[in-house]
Parts: sequence; structure tokens; C-alpha cells
Amino acid sequence: MAGLALLALFAAGTVSYAQAQTVSVYAQGMPRHWQDEFGSTLLDAMSYWEKTIPGLKFELASRMEASDFVVEWASQNEKAKLGYYSTSDLNSYGKPVMAVTLGFFDGGKLQMLSPESALEVTKHELGHAIGMQHSANPDDVMYHTVDDFESLYSVVQVLDGPKNPHAASTKYQELAGSLVVPLEGKITAAKASLGVFSYGNNASDQILEDSWLAYWWAVKYLDYAEKAQMSGGASALQSDYEKSYAEFKAAYEYANLVEQKLALVDENIAKMNALK
Ligand SMILES: [Zn+2]
Repeated sequence: MAGLALLALFAAGTVSYAQAQTVSVYAQGMPRHWQDEFGSTLLDAMSYWEKTIPGLKFELASRMEASDFVVEWASQNEKAKLGYYSTSDLNSYGKPVMAVTLGFFDGGKLQMLSPESALEVTKHELGHAIGMQHSANPDDVMYHTVDDFESLYSVVQVLDGPKNPHAASTKYQELAGSLVVPLEGKITAAKASLGVFSYGNNASDQILEDSWLAYWWAVKYLDYAEKAQMSGGASALQSDYEKSYAEFKAAYEYANLVEQKLALVDENIAKMNALK
């Protein structure tokens, strides 16, 4: 794991010569009917980065516990080439997660991404996983075309140790609780409002796509917030208030991110109405 942090140091600049680094990846099993088209996607993306960064090696971990992060294959409700990488381990794996969307539902029917698009998303997210930032060059695989990654790094921070962890934990538990409760309803409302718009209008297609992306992130962040809340509750029950404080604080911060994404959706709806 130290390898990942080290790699991040020189990833931002030009390619440097790292000492040998092995990154261990646990890939979630892929449904059989996806394997024909996407069975080699991850390996292809890995060899792309191994060629790009001398000294870098990937290995597939046979046990999740031994891996640096987990790769997840997903399908989504909305059309978009999506992926993300999150350093947070507040999830069911207890590991950082990289997710790649391989299919999306369109009118109730599952449409698959092309193998080329899936590879593009996988390379991009794998790049984030080894510490690459977005590139301003449209030809670069790290160009911010599709997705994706938002700075989850900043959300779950190393904490500055509150003087009274119990009180701090209680405070953030309340803050997170009051913020999270109405979010589910707000998200449902946002989805209904966006559902009114359809693609096919050049002026607003991009805004619509951005809006669905923001919506998708709101759903994701709410999921993180709820999981962090649950972990916080469990830690508080064990009187581990340092930990529950960190978790409730994370829940509160994730909930704030949901609010930001929903505000963006509202803004975009106003814009699209103006374009009608
Ligand atoms: Zn990205």
C-alpha cells in the first residue's frame, strides 16, 4: 500500500522512474455473459499503465484482504460512461474501491458499453487508483471526459483529535442525522424533475448529461453518508468515540456533498427550462 502513496508523488509530473512497485488488485467476479466482451478489459488497462510507468506492476490478488483496492463492475440507471475511484474504505469491502460501469438501462433494456469505451473508463479509473490526476490534454487517458472521480481524498481526513471525542461524536451525529434524513426524498424529487427532459436538443443535451451525472453522484454520496453513519453508530456503541467522531463527521461531509450535487441539478433544470 505504501507503493500507492509513493507513486502519487511523481504521477503528477512527467513519467519518472519508480523503484519497482507492485499494486495488488482484487477484481470482483464478472457475470459470465459479460466476459466475452469485457473479460480482458482490466488486464488490458493494467498493461497500458505498466507500459506507461516503468517499474509499475499490477497483480491480481486471490484474496481481497491482501489487495490494495477492489475493482467492481456495475450497471447504472442512466446513460453515461461512468467510473470512480474512492480511497475511502467505509464500504462493505473495507478497502478503497474502483468501479467501472459496463452497462446502463435505457427504457428498461440493458445496453452495454462498447469494449473500447469500457477500456477507456477502466484505464482512466485505474490511473486515479495509482495516483494520477486529470490531464488538460484531450488525447490523454486522464482527460476529464466522462465520469467520475471527485476528490474523495479530502472527505475522510486524518483527524485532528478533538479534546472531547465523546462530545464531538455526539455533535456530528446530530449534524449528520438532521442533514441525511431529508436527502432520500430530495433525491427522488430530483430524479422526477430530470425525468421530464429528454435528449435530442443540441443546446441542452450536455446540461442534461451533466445533471444526470450530478444526480448519480448525489445517490453515491448519500450511500457513503449512510454507511458512515452506520459505522459511527456501531463505534459509538463500543464507546470508541474517536472512531465514531471520525465516521459521523465523514457522514456529515458526504451529506453536504449530496446537497451540493442536488443544488447543481436544480441550477441545470432552470437552465434547461430557459432553453426550451
Ligand atoms: Zn477522472
